[in-house]
Amino acid sequence: NNPAPIVRTVGDTPQGGTVLGFYAPKGAPRPPRIARGEGVFLWDADGKRYLDATAGAVVANIGHGNPRVLAAMTEQAAKVSFAYPRFFESEHNIALADRVCALAGEGFDRAFFVSGGSEANESAIKLARQYAVVTGQGSRSKVISRDPSYHGSTLGALAVTGDANTLKLYGPMIRSMPKVPAPLSYRVPEGDTVASFEMACADALEQAILREGPETVLAFILEPIGGLSTGAVVSSAAYFERVRQICDRHGVLVIYDEIMSGAGRTGAFLAAHHWPAARPDLVTLAKGLAAGYTPLGCLLAPDRIVDAVAGSGGFVHGHTYFTNPLSCAVAHAVVDEVIRQDLVARARDRGELLMARLREVAARSPIVGDVRGKGLLTAIEIVADKSTRRQLPVAFNAPARLTEHGLKHGIALYNRRANLGAFGDFQMITPPLTISEAEIDTLAELLQKSLADLADEIAR
Ligand code: PLP
Repeated sequence: NNPAPIVRTVGDTPQGGTVLGFYAPKGAPRPPRIARGEGVFLWDADGKRYLDATAGAVVANIGHGNPRVLAAMTEQAAKVSFAYPRFFESEHNIALADRVCALAGEGFDRAFFVSGGSEANESAIKLARQYAVVTGQGSRSKVISRDPSYHGSTLGALAVTGDANTLKLYGPMIRSMPKVPAPLSYRVPEGDTVASFEMACADALEQAILREGPETVLAFILEPIGGLSTGAVVSSAAYFERVRQICDRHGVLVIYDEIMSGAGRTGAFLAAHHWPAARPDLVTLAKGLAAGYTPLGCLLAPDRIVDAVAGSGGFVHGHTYFTNPLSCAVAHAVVDEVIRQDLVARARDRGELLMARLREVAARSPIVGDVRGKGLLTAIEIVADKSTRRQLPVAFNAPARLTEHGLKHGIALYNRRANLGAFGDFQMITPPLTISEAEIDTLAELLQKSLADLADEIAR
């Protein structure tokens, strides 16, 4: 093996001029410049076309350039773009909350809109905390989470994110919360089955609660189907039910971070709907909810929590742009499109076709060890050796190399740095829910070519 240098990861932007690049090592080449998007395709300024195989960062659920959403956007912008929600309520905030709560179903009675996923998770943690305080449980302040996990990039969201590398950098600024293992189905410890490992991971939660002292534990936050953390690992109903029982036993709230898995992506409006006997107390959404047309995040909560907090003066929380009229109008139009095009059912059906194609890709590739996911939230895992599941060296940065090859072949692949090397190199495959059957075939072909180049590079 001849490890190539780390060239670039998705999201790298140039460090130069007046642009403060992110994840941008000195001398990183500039990514292509985006010019326009339509459906599942993006074009750069040179006219080159890319299939948006991951809907950006698992965002563009209804595809690019939807004319009905663009019309709703201009209509609302022409009326009013901003009015502070403490002075004025807005038509689309109310309509969007009604729509989202109806789609989320029983137990999700109120919706609170913010600007993105990190804000939504911080809102969930703060609402849970305020609820504990007003119900005489002020000793509860710890939020247990999983390792690996991703809950956002603000310092509060990082406190519950399970990523040792980020913690190394920001550790002194974060009150790092207790972590328990996530049941990674492709990385089961020797002697365990997937089922026994899931139960061990659930039991590790109870052990952590007992170790910390149940009276100090506020909540358990988890991605029911992970994105850039577990890479679309889908656990069994038994795991979620055990987690729910443990949390009930100790008075701990359950928060599902559905920022990636929500808004229809997994073939249900919430991934939580797949395991109805294990309902969470709070759910957060973002990404696909406004599908990239505007920044938007959402916290869903039950009446009993909101009413308790309202009875003591109301939720002490807000941002300048919360319940922004323009974002709410756009998201309302996006949700209308999800309903009009029946995209939740489409995600389920097209997800089956995509998984079948990915399994064919894996069978032909010497470096694809696993294919997993639900609906159109899927991932493949890249390994050095399929029989032993041996991983590639972290320094090789297989995700970044695959992205390079993808851009060359006209397919945009969002992933992360190989900085969680211990958990494997996976590639999310999460196209817009509007993708056609023929476009799924094209996606598989372009992915196959990109993987073949990566395999050649590894063999060199
Ligand atoms: N939670 C999950 C599961 C995510 O995937 C992300 C973003 O990738 C976030 C939270 C943070 O959302 P945002 O980047 O909108 O703040």
